[in-house]
Amino acid sequence: MYLRHRSGPGREGVRALEGEYGLFIDGRWATPPKAERFTSTNPATGETVGSFVAAGVEDVRRATEAAARAFPGWRQTPAPKRGEILLSVAHRMRERKPELGRLVTREMGKVLSEGLGDVQESIDFIEYMAGEGRRLTGETVPSELRSKFCLTVRQPKGVVACITPWNFPTAIPNWKIAAALISGNTVVFKPASATARCGAEVVRLYEEAGVPPGVLNLVTGPGGLVGNALVEDPRVRAVSFTGGVDAGREVYQRGAKGLKMVHLELGGKNPVIVMEDADLPLALEGVLFGAFGTAGQRCTATSRLIVHEKVYEPFLTMLTQRLDRFPVGDPLDPTTGMGPVASADQERKILDYIALGTREAKLRYGGEKLRGGAYDRGYFLQPTIFETAHGTRISREEIFGPVLSVIRVGTYEEAVRVANDIDYGLSSSIYTRDVNRAFRAVGDLEAGITYVNAPTIGAEVHLPFGGIKNTGNGGREAGSAAIEEFTEIKTVFVDFSARLQRAQIDAESAA
Ligand code: NDP
Repeated sequence: MYLRHRSGPGREGVRALEGEYGLFIDGRWATPPKAERFTSTNPATGETVGSFVAAGVEDVRRATEAAARAFPGWRQTPAPKRGEILLSVAHRMRERKPELGRLVTREMGKVLSEGLGDVQESIDFIEYMAGEGRRLTGETVPSELRSKFCLTVRQPKGVVACITPWNFPTAIPNWKIAAALISGNTVVFKPASATARCGAEVVRLYEEAGVPPGVLNLVTGPGGLVGNALVEDPRVRAVSFTGGVDAGREVYQRGAKGLKMVHLELGGKNPVIVMEDADLPLALEGVLFGAFGTAGQRCTATSRLIVHEKVYEPFLTMLTQRLDRFPVGDPLDPTTGMGPVASADQERKILDYIALGTREAKLRYGGEKLRGGAYDRGYFLQPTIFETAHGTRISREEIFGPVLSVIRVGTYEEAVRVANDIDYGLSSSIYTRDVNRAFRAVGDLEAGITYVNAPTIGAEVHLPFGGIKNTGNGGREAGSAAIEEFTEIKTVFVDFSARLQRAQIDAESAA
C-alpha cells in the first residue's frame, strides 16, 4: 500500500508535512510502504529543509518501467508541443523565482543573489530548449545516384537517467531534464541527496505544467544504491551524470557494461592568468567572484591564480585588502559576500586541505573555521589564499571550497605551461590588454572554456559547456550540443527512381 500525495509532494493533507516528499513515479507522488527516510539540512543554520524517501532497487525498477511505458507516447508528441510544455514550466518557474531562489539558498548555502541566479539559469535554459522543439535539425545532402534523396533526422534515445550534484540544485537538473525531454526521451531523475528538495520542486513544476505520467520520474536516495541501480537498469539507454571524478568513473564503468551512452561532467581546477598588462581592478573583481562565489563550490570556480611577477605583490595586496571587506555570514542577507560551505563533509574535506596547505605552502589569508554566535550553527570558513609553487597538492587537486592557490610566473609561456599542467580541463581565463596574446591564449589553454578578461565562471545556456581531460568524456551540455547528447542520428535514403539502384555499383552508370 503506497501513501499517495494527492495534491503535491508537500501537501498530502493527512500525512505529508511541509517539506516531506514521496517519490514521483508514473505521475503520482507516493511513499513506498516501510520506506526509510533521510533529510536535507540548511548548512547555515542546521534546520531541516526536507525529508525524502531513501528509494530501493525496486523503486528504481518501477520508475524505469514507468518511463519505458511513457516513451512511445512522448516520442510521438510533436516536438513543438513538447516545447509548449517546457515554456509553461519556465513560466511557472519565473512566477516562483523568489521562493525557489530562497529555497536554493536555504538548502545549499549559496548567497541569495546566486540562489536566484541558479533559478534564472534554469528558466533561461528551459526557454532555450523549448525553442529547440522547432529546430532539432538534421542534414540534407546530395545523393550519388539520381532520383534519390538523403537526409538525417534526430531521434530520442529512450529512457534517460539524470544524476545531479548539489552545487547547482535547480540549474543542473534542468540542463539535463529539459534537453532530454525536448528530444523526446523520458527521464528518471536522481538529485543529490543534500539538495533533494530543490530537485523535488523542479519536478513539481514539470508536473504542474502538464508533463504526462511517466515522462519524468523522481527517485531520491543514496547515489551508491539508487544511482548504481539506475545506471545498471536495462531499460535505461543513456546516463547524464554531473559530479565528482570517482563517482563519474564508476558510473562510466557500469554504463559501459550495458553499452550505454554515458555523458560525464566532472571536476575542475580552473586557472586565471593575470598578465603584467592586465586591468588589475577588473581582474580583482573577477578573481574574487570566481574564487569565492558559491564559496568556491562551482566546477568552474577559480582555484588557481597564476600571476606575472611584475604585478604579483601589488595584485595580492589588492586581493587581500578587498577580502577584508567581503563578509562571510547569513546567505539570505543581501550584504553577505560568502555563505557557508554546503555540508559537514564539505567543511571537513576543505579544512583537511587547508591543513595540508599550511604544510606545503605559505598561508597568505584566512585558513580558519569561523566560530562564535550564529557561525556555530553552520559551516562557515574564511576565504583562504595560499602562495604556492606549482605542483603542490593544493594547487593540483580539486578542493571544491573557498581556497585559492596563487602561483608566481615570469613569462606568458610559463603561465600557459602551469595552467595546462593539470589533470582537469574545464574552464580557464586570462586577463591581458594585449589582443594578440589574448587570441594566442584562446588557442594555447587546454580547457573546454576560455574567458578573456572575465573570470572562469559565467556560462551562458545557449553555448556548449564541458571540458577535456578528467573533466569529462568528450560530450558537451547546453547549447545545441545538448541535443546531440540526448538523440540518435538516423540516416534516411529515399529512392524515388522506381528501380533498384546500387550505390558504389550503379553510381558510375548514373553519371
Ligand atoms: P558526487 O559525485 O558525490 O555526487 C553527484 C551525484 O551522483 C549525486 O546525486 C550522488 O548521489 C550521485 N552518486 C554518488 N555516487 C554515485 C555512484 N556510485 N553511482 C551513481 N551516482 C552516484 O558529487 P557531489 O554531489 O559531491 O558534487 C561535487 C562534484 O561535482 C565536484 O567534483 C564538482 O567538480 C562536480 N561538478 C561538476 C560540474 C561540471 O559541470 N563539470 C558541475 C557541478 C559539479 P548522493 O548525493 O546521494 O551521494
